[in-house]
Amino acid sequence: MVGNIAVGGGLDGAPAAPVVVQSMTNTDTADVFATSQQVAELYRAGSEVVRVTVNTREAAAAVPKIRDRLAQLNIDVPLVGDFHFNGHKLLAEVPECAAALAKLRINPGNVGKGARRDEQFAKMIEIAGKYQKPVRIGVNWGSLDQSLLARLMDENARRAEPKDATGLMREAMVASALESAAQAEALGLPGNAIILSCKVSGVQDLIAIYRDLARRCDYPLHLGLTEAGLGSKGIVASTAALAVLLQEGIGDTIRVSLTPEPGGERTREVIVAQEILQTMGLRAFVPMVIACPGCGRTSSTVFQELAQDIQTYVRERMPAWQLHHRGVENMTLAVMGCVVNGPGESKHANLGISLPGTGEEPVAPVYADGARITTLRGENIAAEFRSIIENYVERSYPLLAES
Ligand code: SF4
Repeated sequence: MVGNIAVGGGLDGAPAAPVVVQSMTNTDTADVFATSQQVAELYRAGSEVVRVTVNTREAAAAVPKIRDRLAQLNIDVPLVGDFHFNGHKLLAEVPECAAALAKLRINPGNVGKGARRDEQFAKMIEIAGKYQKPVRIGVNWGSLDQSLLARLMDENARRAEPKDATGLMREAMVASALESAAQAEALGLPGNAIILSCKVSGVQDLIAIYRDLARRCDYPLHLGLTEAGLGSKGIVASTAALAVLLQEGIGDTIRVSLTPEPGGERTREVIVAQEILQTMGLRAFVPMVIACPGCGRTSSTVFQELAQDIQTYVRERMPAWQLHHRGVENMTLAVMGCVVNGPGESKHANLGISLPGTGEEPVAPVYADGARITTLRGENIAAEFRSIIENYVERSYPLLAES
């Protein structure tokens, strides 16, 4: 722990700290109300760290006000300030900003050019040290340090077997992160206050880069596929990349960078990050709903509607359940479309319901911990199943002591 923010877990076989879910706002940080509101929404959706852009003096001045407003809402989520180009100035001119943040993100490609780059980087590290804030050195291939890239290209050209353009780009990303981290340590920032990230938008590039980083350093690593994109493409690409690395024990914090669809919710990226971790069995956040895909045996949309209804219901109920019932996030619920796999899958879940398929008797058997407990029929199956879930939670997950 550095300051009030976890910087990561172990990659060396020791029990690792839980992988932390991060997100980022897309509001104008200078708009204190809108940004506080969105941070609160992300936090309530399950984000454990929230990053905000700090790009102007107004944005920097807004950060402590956002912190205060969150405190009024009883929200203590760590805020990370995202600095590019003018971070050294903003942090020096608005020291309350640095004090209110839990972590500073510095992009080594956007710190400055020539001699000013080192000077401005040093200024930011000095402020991080003064306020005891950890720093994420966040390399992004869209803003790779050009002088470092030029140097590596020269070195590469002199090699007997030069790397191709992809190999060189990957090497430059890793070198940028490691050299900046070494520079920060030389400037006095403790090694345990440094987190690294190297974000690219290609799945294979991300996997190769993070494997290399994990092999070459012990710093905690923040994972994310940058510019993952819209909708299912963004979700699939992020999952494909993150799952491989997480499975290898690489990654301490994650962010899923989805482009929200027009009118879509920013909290989607938090839910997807949680679902990646939960479906991989790395963490549990919300009871999981297992639903069959449906097929020619599904006689109507009732089954799909019930699956969606239950999924929404458990997410809405979770904030209250988790205050009172230990372990409820591990509960599994099965919502199945017919008797082919319905009863079997239902028996494996904590609670399961199997709706009638085409030509089957219009009844829905319900199972709890493998045993059939009742049969629902008629128009109120959804409401009755929700009530069975509530009773199961009350009965099966021990009450937490009132704090
Ligand atoms: S459980 Fe029944 S409805 Fe669902 S996919 Fe299998 S056969 Fe089809």
